Amino acid sequence: MERYRNAFRKKVIPWYYRGQLHVAIFSVIQISAIFYIGTRLDWGISTLLVIFFAIGYATTFTYFLHRFLLHKKLPGFGWAFKMHHWHHTFYQSHRMEYDHLDDVYMLLMPPWIQLFYFVVYLPGLVLVAELFLPHHLILPFAFGLTLWYGIYELVHWIEHLPATHWSMKLLFMKSARQSHAIHHSKLKDVANFGIVEPSWDYIFKTKF
Ligand SMILES: [Zn+2]
Ligand SMILES: [Zn+2]
Repeated sequence: MERYRNAFRKKVIPWYYRGQLHVAIFSVIQISAIFYIGTRLDWGISTLLVIFFAIGYATTFTYFLHRFLLHKKLPGFGWAFKMHHWHHTFYQSHRMEYDHLDDVYMLLMPPWIQLFYFVVYLPGLVLVAELFLPHHLILPFAFGLTLWYGIYELVHWIEHLPATHWSMKLLFMKSARQSHAIHHSKLKDVANFGIVEPSWDYIFKTKF
């Protein structure tokens, strides 16, 4: 496995890539966005409901994207399939954890997708939401989506830490890691597509 991983790194990770920088820039953007939007929210029941709705939308989107775009070679999205395939071949159920921070190249979304998320996808969804939601609920909607993205990257990161790591004591992290390890086994194309939470896996009977 060690030789395989070394060869994989040489082949896939660009020479200029620095995992530390990737994590640092993403964390700064993510935390700043949460604080920036969060401090402008008028906290109340309708705000909480819209945040909940946004997270519900996002977890649904994540499940379908993962199951039907990243695990199937759709025309025009071969690159997404390939990148996810890298994730599955580098991290396997018996070896879920990374060795070096540069290995997050095969774990986090690539920097350009993270940028796309904040510069194109999020503003685009906000524009669509403006057609349906009253003005004062737009910001909570954006907050829910931003929060979800941070949670997604963080939970997926923790799922690729050692099983003995202290973070496994947090809430449901131990079972989330076990569930995600099954997704990294031979069952990858049929099991546990919900990376953060399993509700759609239960609904579509893909929970193993
Ligand atoms: Zn994974
Ligand atoms: Zn997958």
